[in-house]
Amino acid sequence: MSLVDVSGLQVTFGSNRVLEDVSFHIDPGEIVTIVGPNGSGKSTLLRCIIGAIRPDAGRITRATDLRIGYVPQKLHVDPTLPLTVRRFLGLPRSVSRSRARQALESAGVPDLADRPMSGLSGGQHQRVLLARALLEEPNLLILDEATQGLDQPGSAAFYLQIERIRRELGCAVLMVSHELHVVMAASDRVVCLNGHVCCQGAPEVVASAPEYRALFGSGTQGALALYRHDHDHHHDHAHGHSHDHAHGSDDNAGPSPGKAHAPHD
Ligand code: ADP
Ligand code: MG
Repeated sequence: MSLVDVSGLQVTFGSNRVLEDVSFHIDPGEIVTIVGPNGSGKSTLLRCIIGAIRPDAGRITRATDLRIGYVPQKLHVDPTLPLTVRRFLGLPRSVSRSRARQALESAGVPDLADRPMSGLSGGQHQRVLLARALLEEPNLLILDEATQGLDQPGSAAFYLQIERIRRELGCAVLMVSHELHVVMAASDRVVCLNGHVCCQGAPEVVASAPEYRALFGSGTQGALALYRHDHDHHHDHAHGHSHDHAHGSDDNAGPSPGKAHAPHD
């Protein structure tokens, strides 16, 4: 049974239809990544799943034992507030010193408890948000662009921590990320969202889908170079529709020669 099963989801803000007929699920222990351009409804979908937004249509089925830990895209903490990490973790519900400590350890920052929130680096701040999500003892950890603003090594370290947590807790992970090389390496499944689900599946399948290439082009070298050797033809992303099977030479992602292929369809 899935942890969360979303079916036919529709969300409209005013006259802006943000999500249309979105169906999607996440199973225990999976790492699923949502990719998509800015404004494509990624955060809105996550916020529907956590119950912060009510969809106008569709159904969200949650497992009875579902426990979500959520790391939001933005959480502004007033820098003039004299708030330690430990006290922050106790909001809105107080937690014991040992649980706070354990969560910080799992998040990879065991020594921050007594530090003021306002003095943390970007990476430390994200780890503390992660620790806060872990207090829920989640079986589903949801991360919305958690590494935004971190440099590349900081971001890589953060994702390693996530994989470690997944191993230790056995939780599923649902995340939004723009770092396509990480996404492709770390995800069991990728969902490409642009108001609707353009395509979804194993990373290598999505990377080769014309819908994905229409959104991200063929210039996302890290992501596509990993997998392109698996494909015997290329889709022309300039037209971006599945009926278009031009065998063009739009691929600039790697060293293997763009051989001419006989059309097979
Ligand atoms: P993404 O996370 O993919 O960048 P969002 O889900 O944040 O996209 O937003 C999708 C669209 O919905 C955007 O056009 C955004 O302006 C709009 N939107 C998001 N939240 C609200 C809201 N609470 N009220 C009105 N419009 C919103
Ligand atoms: Mg967002």
